[in-house]
Amino acid sequence: MNFIQTRGYEKTKPKTVTFSQAILSPIASFGGLYVPEKLPELGIDFLNKHTNSSYKELASDMLSRFEIDIEPDVINEALNLYDKFDDSKNPVPVVKVKENLYVSELYHGPTRAFKDMALQPFGVVLSSIAQKNNENYLILAATSGDTGPAALETFKNRANVQVACLYPDGGTSDVQRLQMVTEDAKNLKVIGINGVFDDAQNALKRLLASNDFKSALQEKNISLSAANSVNFGRIIFQIIYHIHSYLELVRQEAIAMGEKVYLNVPSGNFGNALGGYYAWKMGLPVEKIIISSNENNVLTKLIKTGRYDLRASHVVSTTSPAMDILKSSNVERILFDMFGYARTKELMEDLEVKNAYELTADELSTLRESFDADFCNGDEGKKYIKDTFENDGYLMDPHTATCFKAYETCSNPAIKSIIYSTAEWTKFSPVIANALTGEVDAQDIVALKSISKTANLAIPVMIQELFEKEIVQDTIIEKEDIEKEILKFL
Ligand SMILES: *Cc1c(COP(=O)(O)O)cnc(C)c1O
Repeated sequence: MNFIQTRGYEKTKPKTVTFSQAILSPIASFGGLYVPEKLPELGIDFLNKHTNSSYKELASDMLSRFEIDIEPDVINEALNLYDKFDDSKNPVPVVKVKENLYVSELYHGPTRAFKDMALQPFGVVLSSIAQKNNENYLILAATSGDTGPAALETFKNRANVQVACLYPDGGTSDVQRLQMVTEDAKNLKVIGINGVFDDAQNALKRLLASNDFKSALQEKNISLSAANSVNFGRIIFQIIYHIHSYLELVRQEAIAMGEKVYLNVPSGNFGNALGGYYAWKMGLPVEKIIISSNENNVLTKLIKTGRYDLRASHVVSTTSPAMDILKSSNVERILFDMFGYARTKELMEDLEVKNAYELTADELSTLRESFDADFCNGDEGKKYIKDTFENDGYLMDPHTATCFKAYETCSNPAIKSIIYSTAEWTKFSPVIANALTGEVDAQDIVALKSISKTANLAIPVMIQELFEKEIVQDTIIEKEDIEKEILKFL
């Protein structure tokens, strides 16, 4: 299968590219993104065939329908990484919370957040393409907390790939920081910056666009790439778990095959929701996709009003920081799918030039046939955490909690809902401890112990160990010195 471009074709880049090419250089003509020329049609036969398949069997068959230019043994090696999840037979458990409400837990991988679902296999795929082409890649990552650990974990000791990961010193949780600074491998460099996440992100964008930096890398025979969530190499692995979650409900006899369900997704850059949308287009029986946001509610406004407007918006820090995003990159792929490349180009140019765009009434109603949305603030989220724990015995993180608001306001309670849980309680423990017992400003280690006691849950070994591991990545610098520091590492 080939990949085409969301904003059309400007004659300097190839009109279509292979999967490998779309992975290595994810930015298409006019700054657009790559999308599959045509999604495979799976339909109900595919679902019936896989009612008793393991996650890997399902994944392997689904990926084969995309006919991508990756060798089957590489795909197998990539999918084998799901064996390292808590339950190798079922890396994504789906848990009943109450009548008609199920949670699909996407956080049972090595870094305890959903980024592992895609980044774990992606690391194998990217490294294998680099080896095959006899090329060396530098992956740049800027993180507010979850992407960094997952990217380091997946590329650790992989051939032909080095990673430089930028994080705002003091801007992540203790657990997230420890997951990065204790990562010990020759091909990894973690750099703390005196600044906030935007400083790290802007530095990354500057480097990705800098010709000087690229020629300095070229002298060392290194090409530049990024592992951010617009990369289709990540999206493709995010289609699988939506199908798996549906089949889990069939296996649990919660639904009959063919019955429609809501997919309720805590959204930031829209990769997770896009995976659900593609699964739906490929034949998964879905009633609607519900988008849940926090106070940074641009997506909710888009889906409610048709206006994407950043003119009066600035990012606010919330208790669900992985969703503190205003420019939600993967929405572009939805616009392309619904309205075509000419209109997508127009809308995305409006966003760049005027910082806003507006859909027509017809376009908005098309969008609303597939999506609804609501946002949940931090206090509401904490109340959902406490109430759901006390009434239903289910403990969740603040990102997952945002879905409970939209569940109440956007869905018909007679139809089953799958809420996607994107992080384990261990990653955002101070917020959860505050929600459960009212304690304030606890350090992670204190909060972890208090939740562990209150909820009678063991702290997983990989989290426990972090507090005893040696800190091997101790670089903290000013943002002006990032380029120099990276070249020194290479
Ligand atoms: C990345 C992330 C999200 C947002 O996912 P998108 O695919 O960017 O919409 C939500 N929750 C957590 C915990 C995350 O790490």
